Amino acid sequence: MRLTVVGCGDAFGSGGRLQTCYHVEAAGTRFLIDCGATALIGLSRLGIDPNSIPAIFISHLHGDHYAGLVWWLIHAQHVAKRTVPLTVVGPEGIEARFKAAAEVLFPGSTGVQRRYDLAFLELVRETPLDVGSVRVTPFEVKHPSGAPSYALRLEVGGKVLSFSGDTEWIDSLVPAGHAADLYIIECYQFEGEPRFHMSWKTIRAQLDRIAPKRVMLTHMAEPMLARRHEVSDPRVVLAEDGLVLDL
Ligand SMILES: [Zn+2]
Ligand SMILES: [Zn+2]
Repeated sequence: MRLTVVGCGDAFGSGGRLQTCYHVEAAGTRFLIDCGATALIGLSRLGIDPNSIPAIFISHLHGDHYAGLVWWLIHAQHVAKRTVPLTVVGPEGIEARFKAAAEVLFPGSTGVQRRYDLAFLELVRETPLDVGSVRVTPFEVKHPSGAPSYALRLEVGGKVLSFSGDTEWIDSLVPAGHAADLYIIECYQFEGEPRFHMSWKTIRAQLDRIAPKRVMLTHMAEPMLARRHEVSDPRVVLAEDGLVLDL
């Protein structure tokens, strides 16, 4: 399994980082985890062809995690000339939220005849869903987004890749990432208890209980970015845009 960090920033451009988007290649398939507003910029920088990606998994319906689908849609139509099907998997109501965003930003864009099949699948909490060779299990977390927000546990090719999404600490983060080969965890601050987000201090206290093989800290705000090199746990990798990790 090869993970490429397309974007690991928060919603505010902290550190000049792009918004959340991860590219995964495993067992002959490819997919994205989250598709922030800047996803196409990141894919272009990395030379990744959007037409090579058949599935996108969305953790929650905040713009820095799904708004890139709006630009994806018009790029697929006018630039990439997409013909291969695309499956978008996300929280309940994702299709309506996507259409609303697309119609506000590019009126008429959702009514255009497409040359490819676009399917939306809704996640159901703690219910595994098979999308091609990828099995995703969503665990509800604590982060208001107008729909359930999820941590995602993705199993493919014998590997487990988990992602916390955005959330403050909640016990569902344990089964979501238990013994995962890599757990990508949002770490907004170094210490303290930020509302609806996490700090390294909170994560560190829970790591032995979750027992992931490796951890990637992501979605860092400026104060966390300034102190990120103080994190000395050998399991931890600090996310950077463009970072490639083989698992
Ligand atoms: Zn976010
Ligand atoms: Zn969020």
